Amino acid sequence: MSGAVGARRCTPADVTSPKPDPAGGGSKLPPPIASGLYGCCPRCGAKTLFRNFLAYADRCGACGLDFTAFNVGDGPVVFLTLGIGTLVTILALWVEFTFSPPVLVHVLLWIPITLVLTVLMLRISKGLLLALEFRNKAQEGRLRED
Ligand SMILES: [Zn+2]
Repeated sequence: MSGAVGARRCTPADVTSPKPDPAGGGSKLPPPIASGLYGCCPRCGAKTLFRNFLAYADRCGACGLDFTAFNVGDGPVVFLTLGIGTLVTILALWVEFTFSPPVLVHVLLWIPITLVLTVLMLRISKGLLLALEFRNKAQEGRLRED
């Protein structure tokens, strides 16, 4: 994104988080949830994390942080599969045992709800996991050679 230099930055005030920064008072990093909710760069806070709704940008247009160096892998998908799958299953069972609707009602109700929840939560969880990976300096394990 070429116009990212003047992009609005995420600040802790954008996110209503009553908890103080666990890293201590000197940290200027935006809160990790801001990366998920608003697509903020985990280092500078510019809204440059996503190229489009779900795809990461290659690098931050404001500070140059290379987003391709991070690998969140299938982490967001696992959380969403377990969380949303459990939620939708519980709700479908509740609807079935409470109202006993025809099968078509279940198809028309739960498939769109599952798709919308998954896509919305995928963006949030991808941004959150990348920000946490940056903040915690997570990387693949390496054998130390002595
Ligand atoms: Zn940045």
